[in-house]
Amino acid sequence: MIYADFNGSAPLCHDVVEYLKTRLEQNGPYSNPNAIHYLGSKTLRGMEKARKVCAESVGAQPNQLIFNSGASESITTVFNYLCQNPNEKNIIITSPLEHSATVEACKHYAKKGFQILSLKSDARGTIDLSELEGLLQESGAKVALVTVMAANNETGVILPFKEVATLCQKYHVPYLCDTTQLIGKHPFNFSESGIDYAMTSGHKFGALMGTGLLLVKQPTKMAPLIFGGGQERGMRGGTQNYIGNETMAVAFQSCLVKMEKLGTLRAKREEFENKIKQEFPKVVIIGESTPRLANTTLISYPGVHGQAVQIELESHNIFVTTSSACSDNEPATSKVLKGMGVSDEIGRGVVRISLSPCSNLDNYDKIYKALSEAYRKLAKVAPIA
Ligand code: PLP
Repeated sequence: MIYADFNGSAPLCHDVVEYLKTRLEQNGPYSNPNAIHYLGSKTLRGMEKARKVCAESVGAQPNQLIFNSGASESITTVFNYLCQNPNEKNIIITSPLEHSATVEACKHYAKKGFQILSLKSDARGTIDLSELEGLLQESGAKVALVTVMAANNETGVILPFKEVATLCQKYHVPYLCDTTQLIGKHPFNFSESGIDYAMTSGHKFGALMGTGLLLVKQPTKMAPLIFGGGQERGMRGGTQNYIGNETMAVAFQSCLVKMEKLGTLRAKREEFENKIKQEFPKVVIIGESTPRLANTTLISYPGVHGQAVQIELESHNIFVTTSSACSDNEPATSKVLKGMGVSDEIGRGVVRISLSPCSNLDNYDKIYKALSEAYRKLAKVAPIA
């Protein structure tokens, strides 16, 4: 079996599985980390150690890190905090590349009277910084937040988030950067990035599902989305998922070791892409000319339906998606690709192949073989109407 959907969700990383076995069978304690007795404080110490490891792994201070359930919650929390009063600052600047967690938050606040200004994307799958600067020059004082992601989940394209942060600082506008796909797959340092709010979900890099973290540059100026008993220094109510949070620390430590393998992963990915393009010159690789995450290929054979390719690959026990998991049921070109000006002929044909630095590199050879067979078979028989 070849699992090639790491951008959707990474399987539990080996070190996390080993950690959980020991943790659950032997180590304990199993107590509310906020309880004042001995067992509670021991659990709390373990969780705070995990916070320190997670914070260090992303170049943040422990007090800048809020444990929560994942990126969707983080994004909603930041919108909830920054978009309180449309009479003061009523503009949200976003991009057509954002994940539905951000898109839906924008729609929600549009109904509450906020004006959404969307940057244009280009065929390279990125944004134009001069357009952003123009918008900030015109309306900086009225901007509640800028939200432009760090790396796109479908294409793997890395956006110029450091430059966006510099512009946001220049115009004194808060910057929410969806770093969910970047963290764990690309070097990232929160303090050096200039970003005000960043986040990720544990399941994207080998920790347990339903875990996540929000990074806040100025944690004293943050309000909770979820009220409760003052957990996470009052910034996220509810008893913490402490074992889940510990798995993030373990997964981060494992990821940092594997970061060294990004270069070889990228080289093997390029060899794979070149081979398939050579064999099928019609094939399009989305975002090819732009810096991309080392693990991602979004590939299309124009006129061949992506779902048909996915099924062919699945018959070889290779698991890919047609686009992002959230849009899998839509047989249409994704909004992100539409925003890039990708035609339906290409857009409906995409499959996303996303591996990880832990993956066996030979997987690319097997995927190449199966994909080449699928294209040879389907290109003859399945033109899209
Ligand atoms: N942002 C990006 C870029 C993502 O890829 C995802 C998940 O696919 C999310 C946000 C939402 O993450 P979660 O579903 O873990 O909340």
